Amino acid sequence: MPVARTDTLLFSKDVGQRVIIEEAIARHDRSLHLETDVGNAEDKATWPAWQLVMAGLDSGVDNARRVLTRARQRGLPTLAVSSSPALVAHFQEGDLAQSTVHTRDLDRVLTELPRKGAGHRAPRRVVAIGAHPDDVELGCGGVLARHAMAGDEVTLVCLTDGGKGGSSSRRIDEAQRAAWYLGAHLHMLDARDGQLAQDRHMYSRLQDLVCGIQPDVAYIHSLNDMHPDHVAAHQLSLVATRYVPTVFAYAAPSMSTAFSPSHFVVLGESAEDKLRLVGMHVSQRDKAYMSDHQVRATLLRWGAQVRFEEAEAFEVVRQVVQTV
Ligand SMILES: [Zn+2]
Repeated sequence: MPVARTDTLLFSKDVGQRVIIEEAIARHDRSLHLETDVGNAEDKATWPAWQLVMAGLDSGVDNARRVLTRARQRGLPTLAVSSSPALVAHFQEGDLAQSTVHTRDLDRVLTELPRKGAGHRAPRRVVAIGAHPDDVELGCGGVLARHAMAGDEVTLVCLTDGGKGGSSSRRIDEAQRAAWYLGAHLHMLDARDGQLAQDRHMYSRLQDLVCGIQPDVAYIHSLNDMHPDHVAAHQLSLVATRYVPTVFAYAAPSMSTAFSPSHFVVLGESAEDKLRLVGMHVSQRDKAYMSDHQVRATLLRWGAQVRFEEAEAFEVVRQVVQTV
């Protein structure tokens, strides 16, 4: 079952204002996540998920400023909204002047709003395929956060529910939280955890799914891995992504000594996204490789290899470029 995602964060305590904004958002094919608590809104305001972070000035000017400032520091588009001309005028004199709007102008502003990452490059469709919940977060969570911040459309595919490593429902919930954080689509497939190699029908399931997505870039398990499900997932993914122009294979904690990366992505602030994504798999926290300490150590190890700070490392399965 694909999971619906939300692309707009709204902090608002004012019910009347909220209804006006919700209706405007729906008219523009956006989906809203509402926060009424300023602390929660501040925390979520930096998530890569959002195409837009909005705050109602009627919920308190200082509260709105706190939420929007966090989002702007992250480089996310923001809008302060009010139905009070006085509040709009007051805010338009400050540092959020460019993004303060009266509710009656909301439709026009939403129409004209530039896409997140506009000017950077054309958006890409990205798919990341893992055998279990937590695999793509461990393997390429930082890169996926960078794709999300660039405005790319990210889809996560998890081939099993991870039932051998804990409660299935809990693990699915954790995968959904990670997808939500990224603003990604999530497809949970139903192969049996631990028996992926025997699941022949999964070839066509995965292939149909990837063909429907038409990704520009795919991230898949490496063949140089000692977990049998990961090796099987690599082979399934290799077939399913054979028409995808660019395919990278990510490292897992179970990688073999043969893992030999030649593509490195420096993460910058998305190293923190990676830690948060891995941390969402609370049911797996007793495994040493899930600790903040080991996750960061791995990022620093790859970064050091190319003389940077935190990085993720990939084997290049195939890379096609149309411009140099
Ligand atoms: Zn795994």
